Amino acid sequence: MDLLDRIDHWGRVTPDQPAHVSGSRVLTYGELLARSDALAAWLARELGASRAPVAVHGHKEPEMLIAFLGAVKSGRPYVPIDVSIPAQRVERIVQTAGAALTLTQAVITEISATPSAAAPRRVAGDDPFYILFTSGSTGEPKGVVITLANLEHFLAWMLAEQQFAVPGETFLNQAPFSFDLSVMDLYASLATGGTLFSITKDHVANLKSLYEAFRVSGLTTWVSTPSFAQMCMIERGFTAAMLPKLRRFLFCGETLAPETAAQLLERFPQAAVWNTYGPTETTVATTSIRITREVLEQWSPLPVGAAMPGTRVVILGENGEPVSEGERGEIVIAGPNVSPGYLGRDDLTAKAFFTLGGARAYRTGDWGRARAGQIFFEGRRDSQVKVNGYRIELGDLEANLRALPEVADAVVLPVEKHGRIDALAAVLVLAAEKTGSDFAFTAQLKARLGERLPAYMVPRKFLYVDAFPMTANGKADRRKLAELLG
Ligand code: AMP
Repeated sequence: MDLLDRIDHWGRVTPDQPAHVSGSRVLTYGELLARSDALAAWLARELGASRAPVAVHGHKEPEMLIAFLGAVKSGRPYVPIDVSIPAQRVERIVQTAGAALTLTQAVITEISATPSAAAPRRVAGDDPFYILFTSGSTGEPKGVVITLANLEHFLAWMLAEQQFAVPGETFLNQAPFSFDLSVMDLYASLATGGTLFSITKDHVANLKSLYEAFRVSGLTTWVSTPSFAQMCMIERGFTAAMLPKLRRFLFCGETLAPETAAQLLERFPQAAVWNTYGPTETTVATTSIRITREVLEQWSPLPVGAAMPGTRVVILGENGEPVSEGERGEIVIAGPNVSPGYLGRDDLTAKAFFTLGGARAYRTGDWGRARAGQIFFEGRRDSQVKVNGYRIELGDLEANLRALPEVADAVVLPVEKHGRIDALAAVLVLAAEKTGSDFAFTAQLKARLGERLPAYMVPRKFLYVDAFPMTANGKADRRKLAELLG
């Protein structure tokens, strides 16, 4: 049984079980099966022999799940695009992906309503299953191709390690579907006949409604970035009394601070806390560790854990040689969870992917160390950052700022608070005199940048200078600029 068969199985044996709850909407496994089959049959008729990806534009609606499964059941990968991504960038993603068409909620609802026999060919083995676009350093988003085989390798490990109750778990879906963290909750849930409980942007905009939703959610498995859990902990009532069935927290995507883990263990004594690590390019997560009180006593900062079975995580030096235990180097991941590469970007693929001991390998760009069977993450080798769990290439932002006619040159810097990145700041050299007040001008620039990039990428602070201080080799001196920001 492959993943798709497993999901269909729940449509037959527990058709009335909710597969997805999002706001007031509920999608059952029976509906998911019938509607995704209908959509797949329509796509097969409409697109013929082409295996081009299908873009899916929306937020957390049940139609997203119908479209994802409909695409792969018709033999095509899907490209999830969240509504937070502005139209210009959506267009570039759709173009770069070579998408055959873009499905929206209304279209999916209409097409999937007419029952139809299953499509003749599904995605199998090494076929691309989904393509996720992440920030690219030159200003162009890059598409990471993940195959069914990649996804199944990841999922087999997750299910074996976590021993989810089958069926019967309720999974938190915090991340939008265009981020690979959502793959953890979405497919762990669908594969085990669980219920995916999505929180929407409306919940996040009104935290009172979020906590009310939590109270009636029946959540058993929490999947989020550490930032999101930290935000929830501002509410004193965010305890086991709010989520009495919660058994575990699964974190990925950014550093899990020991203080966060300790507070969660305190507030949720029945729940396990897990730190997992991995980039989109190696399918969601590759290492894991359960953070117990003993682990907290032993390590600070916390390790990200040990590699999943069948995959190697090694630390390599400057010339690709393995470093000794405890030495710092680049974290490299090799195994069946490693992506075939970036869609249509052989140049980028060749730089980051290679073969190691006969296995496909990926250079993460992360600094790390291995010690006592654990991997420790120690920051980035390049200018990729995480802000509230979002992966951002500073070069992406700088290129998009420079593309504005008002901007002659741009440097973007992370602003740190308590040792973690709290926000981004843009330092700009303008092409012409500023018009109006600094405040109004900045608001206008932010709005213009917001037409090109999602809101989470728009820097909070803007600073204007006549020229950048230069380093000896003629580059903008980021250290001096950071001092300017104070
Ligand atoms: P993404 O592709 O969005 O999942 O981002 C991957 C990057 O996030 C990794 O290369 C790391 O830099 C960072 N990351 C992921 N998980 C962790 C973790 N548990 N601790 C620290 N950093 C992490």
